[in-house]
Amino acid sequence: MLNQLLKQPSFSRDNMISLLSVKGDDTQKVLNRALEVKAATVGRNVYLRGLIELSNVCAKDCYYCGIRKANSRVHRYTLTDEEVFQAADFAWRKGFGSLVIQSGELSSPGFASHIERLLKGIHQRTNAELSVTLSCGEQPYEVFKRWHEAGAHRYLLRIETTNRALYDQIHPQNPLHAYAKRIEALEDLRKAGYQVGTGVMIGLPGQTIADLADDLIFFKSLDVDMVGMGPYIEHAETPLFEKFMLLWPAAERFRMSLLMIAGLRLLMPDINMASSTALETLDPLGRQSGLLAGANVVMPNLTPVINRINYQLYNNKPNLDKDPALSTSSLNEVIEAIGEKICYFEPGTSRHFLKRQG
Ligand code: SAH
Repeated sequence: MLNQLLKQPSFSRDNMISLLSVKGDDTQKVLNRALEVKAATVGRNVYLRGLIELSNVCAKDCYYCGIRKANSRVHRYTLTDEEVFQAADFAWRKGFGSLVIQSGELSSPGFASHIERLLKGIHQRTNAELSVTLSCGEQPYEVFKRWHEAGAHRYLLRIETTNRALYDQIHPQNPLHAYAKRIEALEDLRKAGYQVGTGVMIGLPGQTIADLADDLIFFKSLDVDMVGMGPYIEHAETPLFEKFMLLWPAAERFRMSLLMIAGLRLLMPDINMASSTALETLDPLGRQSGLLAGANVVMPNLTPVINRINYQLYNNKPNLDKDPALSTSSLNEVIEAIGEKICYFEPGTSRHFLKRQG
C-alpha cells in the first residue's frame, strides 16, 4: 500500500495524512522515496545561504519566540553596517552564492531605509554576485517593492501554522499579529516579484497530523518557491512554554519534521527547501538528515559570535560559540560524506520559480 502511494504522480490531502501517519520502518521508506525524487528533479545538490541575524530588536510578541518584545532578559543588539558587509564579504569569497538577512520585526521608515542601505552596500561590495534573501517580517507592499528594487530577490515569511485557531493561540490577538495580514503579506511579496518562501513550525502544542497535512497543501496552493520549516522548540522565557506538557517528545518532533520535508518534496519536487537549524538543535546530525529527507539548502550562520547568544529564538540553539570559518570548513566534508554536492558560486535559484517565469 505505502509503496504504491509513494509512486503516485500527485497527492491529495488524505494521501498526505497517510504519509505523515507512518510509523516504524515505514518512516525511512518515505524519506528514501523523497531522496529519490529530489535526485531525479533538482539533483543531489546543496546550496548555501550565509545567515546574518541582523538584529533582535522586535516589535512583536509571538508567544513562541525567545526574542519577543516582552522578553526583558534579552540584551538587544543591531549589527553595524560594517559587520554586515564583512559577513557578506566572507560569504562571497567562500563562494556561498547567497545570503539571508534575518531580523526581529520592525515596521518603520527607519528600518525600511536601513535594509535598503544594506542591500545596496552588499551588492556594491560583492560585485552584485550574491543573491540576497530577506526574512524581516511583514511589511507594507511599498517597502517590499523598495527592497526588491534595491536587490532583494527572495523573501522568507513563515505562515507558522495554517490552523487558524492554533495561529490565534500562539499569537496575541491584535492587528499586529493577525493571520489575515500574514496571508496578505505573502500575496504582496509575490506581486512585488520575489521568489516567495514560507514555512511552519512542526510539533506546536495541540497541532495534529491533519494540521500538518493542511500546511503542505497550503504551500502547494500558494505555489511557493521555497520552504523553510522545522521543529518547534520550546523557550523557557515565552508564554507558550506553559504548554510544555502537551508537546510531542523531541525525537517525535524531529521525525515529523523529516516526514514533512519528505512529504513536501513529493508534493512539490522542484522547490528549494532548507534543512533548518532547529533540526540540528534536536540532533547533531539533523542538518544531514534534513538533506537526506529531501531538503537542498543549508544556511551556515555568519552572525558575529558575540551576538549569537542574543538571537535565541528557542532554547539550546547550536553553534553559539563557533566563528563562521569554523562552522563552514567542515561543511564540505560532512555534506560529501552523505553523497551530496555543495554548489559553490551559484545562486541556486528555485527551479520552481524559473519554471513559473517561463
Ligand atoms: N521576525 C522574522 C524572522 C525571525 S523569526 C519573521 O517573523 O519572519 C524566524 C522564524 O523562526 C519564525 O518564522 C519561526 O517559525 C521560527 N521560530 C521562532 N520561535 C521558534 C521556536 N520557539 N521554535 C522553532 N522555531 C521558532
